Amino acid sequence: MVDWSLAILGGLRTVGIYLVRPLQRGDGPNKFRLSAMETATTTHDGDQGWAKRPPAVLECDRCGSEVLQHNARDSIDCPRCVAEFDYDEFADLELLYLTCPVCKSRMSHGQRHPERLDIVEWATCDACRYHWEFKHSYS
Ligand SMILES: [Zn+2]
Ligand SMILES: [Zn+2]
Repeated sequence: MVDWSLAILGGLRTVGIYLVRPLQRGDGPNKFRLSAMETATTTHDGDQGWAKRPPAVLECDRCGSEVLQHNARDSIDCPRCVAEFDYDEFADLELLYLTCPVCKSRMSHGQRHPERLDIVEWATCDACRYHWEFKHSYS
């Protein structure tokens, strides 16, 4: 403590340097904040409702092939073992992924009420930010 005031007097130049450094370091967090905002504002496209559900790729429960269901009301026909499933059997089959209707990328998907429903309830395209949401008519 005795040497502290002397250290300040002798270290004014050093203090000046320390004042500049945090500003330069601030570049990192600022850049991060900007890119986070960009990500939020580019969420421009989306749909709601089961009828507008993006095309889904399901797993055939007989042969394990990938089966594309173009929309929610299409029957689900396996191209390999010719197994046929009605659209209302969707929930019985394993959903592999949904396909973005805008850029055809694989979408991330998930559920919001797994205790009440056993179907996908939302999907987001990480490539173009298209978002689909299944809105419950009863909630
Ligand atoms: Zn099959
Ligand atoms: Zn997309």
